[in-house]
Amino acid sequence: MKTFAQMTAEELRRERDEARAAVDAFASRGLKLNMTRGVPSTAQLDLSGAMQGLVTDKTGYLSENGTDCRTYGLPDGLPELRAIFAELLEVPASQVVAWGNSSLNLMFDMLSQCITQGTTQGGPWGKQGEVKFLCPSPGYDRHFSVTEYFGVTMIPVAMTPTGPDMDEVERLVSGDHSIKGMWCVPKYSNPQGVTYSDETVRRLARMPAADDFRIFWDNAYFLHDLADQTDALLNILPEAAAAGHPDRVFQFAATAKITYAGAGVAFFASSEANVAALKKRLTMQSICPDKVNQLRHARFFGSAAGVLEHMQGHRAILAPKFQAVLDALDTLDGSGIVEFTRPHGGYFVSVDVPDGCAKRVVALCAEGGVALTGAGATYPYGKDPRDRNIRIAPTFPPVDELKLAMELFVACVRLAAAEKQLTMDN
Ligand code: PMP
Repeated sequence: MKTFAQMTAEELRRERDEARAAVDAFASRGLKLNMTRGVPSTAQLDLSGAMQGLVTDKTGYLSENGTDCRTYGLPDGLPELRAIFAELLEVPASQVVAWGNSSLNLMFDMLSQCITQGTTQGGPWGKQGEVKFLCPSPGYDRHFSVTEYFGVTMIPVAMTPTGPDMDEVERLVSGDHSIKGMWCVPKYSNPQGVTYSDETVRRLARMPAADDFRIFWDNAYFLHDLADQTDALLNILPEAAAAGHPDRVFQFAATAKITYAGAGVAFFASSEANVAALKKRLTMQSICPDKVNQLRHARFFGSAAGVLEHMQGHRAILAPKFQAVLDALDTLDGSGIVEFTRPHGGYFVSVDVPDGCAKRVVALCAEGGVALTGAGATYPYGKDPRDRNIRIAPTFPPVDELKLAMELFVACVRLAAAEKQLTMDN
């Protein structure tokens, strides 16, 4: 197969016209598929159906230590649920807080507190002048919205197959102490599905940076394996402690993509000092978290092994969907017009189309009836400098709809790429 760059103008025009006809045919079918967000499918939510019946008048409301979960108490969360997630996160339970329904909310709150109150290492970031954050890109759009909201200057750093470009990260943080933090989705990253290598984790833990520098370690997908070959992530907390930066890392996790999105439980794991500071503050923010929901979760899982077993159910539903996406993208093999990831887990497939074509592909898909995440969303300020990255979210649609949507996507990429190649050749 010839790459698009090798095709003659006539061949490119044929590609373009065929692809245009395919997109038009889709448009006339009146499809309406939404693949904008990585949300769990109904079948995935149903996996947790039994959870609802586990906390009732019949079962009682007592935690293992005898606390009635219907009333105030246990301000850092239910001990049995903290113990389960502490084991999974490989952190002592004393360093884990089980809090509300959203980890993003915890991240928003931590950033807000750092700006107005400071950290265990120093005064409010907001009183030290400009505050900057490193943003490995492509990354999670909502992270970037949070930093943008607080007026933090975002500095994109390229992602590599082993995590953020560490030479660049080290160069930036060692020379500029107004860089106060960094977003990281270290396992099965959103959107590329990259897991940081041990070397990347160690370099993040030990690099010279401002004393009050904080890594927002969003381990949202740490249990979301999709393949027999799973990725292993080095535990950063002991690495940071051993490197003399015990308070550098704020780790977040959640059951949003394990049980219910928006009605799960979020966790914070960090050094003793950071956890103590958080707990002190939480007593002022709220008397205690929703322990009834935490009790439901603890009873439903039973143990760390129970969580892992539950994740197999997600994998069984999701793996064929990811395969459908990859099979469709594989039809472009040899064309030279796409690069994409084959993640071993997580919620997304990241596709790079030719430079300058991402917005066009997303617009063409919309014409054909498929809504994708906006092009640019995976970069700070919504600006993909090369306009080439597109995030595919395969989790929600049923496989047959996904196959259709991907057929359209492939036609749109061919059309945009042929159009571009024709203008370049002219
Ligand atoms: N972090 C990442 C990396 C995510 O992809 C998502 C959900 N898309 C979240 C956090 C949101 O988690 P929660 O529902 O716990 O706020």
